[in-house]
Amino acid sequence: MDIIEQIKPKLLLHVCCAPCSSHVLELLEDEYDITVYFYNPNITKEPEYEKRIAELKRFVSEAPFAKNVKIVEETYDPDTFFQMAKGLEQEPERGARCYKCYELRLRKTAQYAKEHSFDFFTTTLSISPHKNATWLNAIGEQLGNEYEIHHLYSDFKKKNGYARSIQLSKEYNLYRQDYCGCIFSEEEAKQRKLSCK
Ligand code: SF4
Repeated sequence: MDIIEQIKPKLLLHVCCAPCSSHVLELLEDEYDITVYFYNPNITKEPEYEKRIAELKRFVSEAPFAKNVKIVEETYDPDTFFQMAKGLEQEPERGARCYKCYELRLRKTAQYAKEHSFDFFTTTLSISPHKNATWLNAIGEQLGNEYEIHHLYSDFKKKNGYARSIQLSKEYNLYRQDYCGCIFSEEEAKQRKLSCK
């Protein structure tokens, strides 16, 4: 690690999957000393969970701009997600269950960032057009105040960010799942496909 690297602010970046991390890492790595934080109890099926974390590790090891990026992997814990989602199983994607799901993952990220003396925390989630960036930033701000740590505002899909993440995903041949993560979103995606036939 060189001197320049040492003086960059430390950012804990919550990452949901390799494709969403791709452009965000490319965008932020010059400015921040980045640690990616894989805390996603919403990925309810274990093989899918394993696939997404393995793909993230591969991407970080292969992308030249991610060479200084560190990875922290939390344990696979779908029970916490199901507990949180009780009573909200029938909510559509982008509804009340998703708000709580964002909050669950960002809270853990803010806690970890505070405990490990990071300067900032944020999430890659806002790169997806399916995610509500206004909610994500409002939750991030509120948790930043609660844990006394800076939340980095983000809407990574802007300025062609989403398109660039697709391009990078192709370049690195990344696995791109066709549903968000929980079994409810998987079912919703299946129904969408059926209704298109
Ligand atoms: S659809 Fe996605 S954001 Fe919403 S609850 Fe499921 S995993 Fe979480």
